[in-house]
Amino acid sequence: MKMEPQLNIIFLPYPTPGHMIPMVDSARLFARHGASSTIITTQANASTFQKAIDSDFEAGYSIRIHVIPFPASQVGLPEGVENMKDGNSLEIMGKIGRGIHMLRDQIELLFHDLNADCLVTDMLYPWTVDSAEKLGIPRLYFYSSSYFSNCASYSVRTHRPHDGLESDTSKFLIPDLPHKTEMTALQLAEWIRTKNNSTAQFFDAVFESEKRSYGAVYNSFHDLENEYEEHYKNIMGIKVWSIGPVAAWINSTNKGQKHDHVEELEPKWLKWLNSKKIGSVLYVSFGSLTRLPNAQVAEIAHGLENSGHDFIWVIRKRENNDDDNDGDSFLHDFEVRMRESNQGYIIWNWAPQLLILEHSSIGGIVTHCGWNSILESLSFGLPMITWPMFAEQFYNEKLLVDMLKISVAIGVKENKLWVSLGEEDVVKRDMITNAVKVLMGSGEESMEMRKRAKKLGDVGKRAIEEGGTSYNNLIRLIQELKSLKVSRELSKRKLEN
Ligand code: UDP
Repeated sequence: MKMEPQLNIIFLPYPTPGHMIPMVDSARLFARHGASSTIITTQANASTFQKAIDSDFEAGYSIRIHVIPFPASQVGLPEGVENMKDGNSLEIMGKIGRGIHMLRDQIELLFHDLNADCLVTDMLYPWTVDSAEKLGIPRLYFYSSSYFSNCASYSVRTHRPHDGLESDTSKFLIPDLPHKTEMTALQLAEWIRTKNNSTAQFFDAVFESEKRSYGAVYNSFHDLENEYEEHYKNIMGIKVWSIGPVAAWINSTNKGQKHDHVEELEPKWLKWLNSKKIGSVLYVSFGSLTRLPNAQVAEIAHGLENSGHDFIWVIRKRENNDDDNDGDSFLHDFEVRMRESNQGYIIWNWAPQLLILEHSSIGGIVTHCGWNSILESLSFGLPMITWPMFAEQFYNEKLLVDMLKISVAIGVKENKLWVSLGEEDVVKRDMITNAVKVLMGSGEESMEMRKRAKKLGDVGKRAIEEGGTSYNNLIRLIQELKSLKVSRELSKRKLEN
């Protein structure tokens, strides 16, 4: 009998939920299909998914976390602040970033000592392409957003169609894409809008490392954006494997532990959702990082209340606001009013998103267009209201609204990190009420979006079933990595003889 080589794959997630969660899910999927997965991360980050990994390990899969210490005191952070979601100011986020950067030498040594056969590393670790080259092993570039966004961003960076326009609000066409897509300069991330800044220099290294990688792994599925999967291969000239939606996949195999582990048997939010009609509740979330200013929070509160529809809303607290007291007392009164009328439920800071989305009473979502939230909603066939904030989220909005036609745009005009949002950026209550009424109402537009979202959700489910496109891609990728390992070992032996 031919012995299959054991494959040691090292996963290096970037500590922000939108990057880390899908990579951990992917590491678990690789282990489910025979690879040995090691996730390198720091203690506080490890603790957020330790239970899931332990339960996989106990179920017989070869998976573990290799914990390295975070240099908290060296960068002036309190113990345990190791993830971008803990950064409630640019300063803290900067320190977390510096701390992560300081781990490089230690991680490089680990790649060697752990006898890695392949590195699956976040896009934000461009240096790992050199580490892999030194070790003579493949590096897989892990991108945690859509093909569409990466193709669009590539085109904008290459052709700079936004330079020399009359104004930041003039529309321009993104060149060389399979579909006609228009944007304004204001919707681009600031580092792309302006030239020669340090962020752009960092991203140049990221994109250079992407092209030099053995291939890329995407949390997407073929039938969702197949033309862009193809386009991506052509422009990058590297191999690519779509293995998503990974959250739906790992959670469909009920042997393991979900990320969103809930200790209580029936938490309050669940009781509240259980009391609601099927498809009647709107889930409102701006992802893991965004903390809105109080003025915006108040407009959302009024907008939701005026819509008359039920909602469950995750609010992340912003600190150091001058108007904190006013904002707090407004929100307190609002929460009490919503409790009395039973129209709305507020979750503070962090919600078990997957568990909420899978509840049958949820009928739609307001999203900031983070790719994970999009895929998670799609997995449950939910249509969306798009409210992009920063990074590539405006591209994702185009995909959802113009191409897939499963979303209503709230109408945000400018790409801004939440820390820079001010009075002038506040989306007014009427815009919110109108979008909610369209999405959650029973008009034709909503019904059509709903049907399309449900259909795409079903296609996504088939992709991760045995024989589905993502399923087959993962199996093929593991086989290819095994063949590479065999060839590597053969040439090593030849050299030794
Ligand atoms: N998430 C969650 N609870 C929250 C906020 C976020 O579980 O209260 C999870 C969400 O399910 C998703 C990830 O965090 O898996 C956020 O990733 P996404 O790409 O949607 O947005 P980002 O936070 O990176 O902007």
